[in-house]
Amino acid sequence: MKKQIVANWKMNTARAQAVALVNALKAKAGQGSPHFDLVICPPFVWLADCASLVAGSAMGLGAQDCHAAEKGAYTGDISAPMLKELGCSYVILGHSERRQHHQESSILVKEKATQAIKNGLVPIICVGEVEAERAIGQQEVIVARQLDQSIPDTGRFYIAYEPVWAIGTGKPPSLEDIRIMHDFIRNRIDPSRGVAILYGGSVKVSNAREILATKNVDGVLVGGASLDAEEFWGIAQASPTHKG
Ligand code: PEP
Repeated sequence: MKKQIVANWKMNTARAQAVALVNALKAKAGQGSPHFDLVICPPFVWLADCASLVAGSAMGLGAQDCHAAEKGAYTGDISAPMLKELGCSYVILGHSERRQHHQESSILVKEKATQAIKNGLVPIICVGEVEAERAIGQQEVIVARQLDQSIPDTGRFYIAYEPVWAIGTGKPPSLEDIRIMHDFIRNRIDPSRGVAILYGGSVKVSNAREILATKNVDGVLVGGASLDAEEFWGIAQASPTHKG
């Protein structure tokens, strides 16, 4: 499987910056790579601009959230059909920042993921423990619960393992800790679902090669470093060139 290199711009970029970033990546990505797929997840308000720029290119487009309902009286929310119509193929769900700031539960994440799949989107479901949970060795218990409660019953999805303490801190876990958790996640999910398991949390050019070469790491979800086209492209290019 090609490595999945996904950019989460979060609530960053002015419009001109978003357009410049996509154009810079498009120029580098050309017709695509046999080793990796690039996906960008801009803020909702720039999705239409980005959709027209990535159309016909090898880059994929994703959103950073969607509502669990198909439509209705949900002021300020965005539905999965709207994202699909805009040209999205992916949607990040259950990011720790949404779990923390919007009190999103795994049960709600599953409802959102189910709606996303119904509308032809691939949900990228984020899981991961906080620092205090790892400190007492509870990371697998936490991640198992998040997986069990948030994985949709049918359809294609990705998992992003993002230890909360590694997000934006410049301190990723050791490669051994990443390997152990990705093995754990792989074994927890029915193999027939063919899930891609991404790692996220302080991925940079300087550590991408070894993270992407770690067993059961099918790609990376990149926050801060995805706002710089050179850095993000460097991460993608760190994808192994051999199969396996
Ligand atoms: C993220 O929030 O999804 C993330 C991985 O952030 P960062 O790369 O900045 O740690």
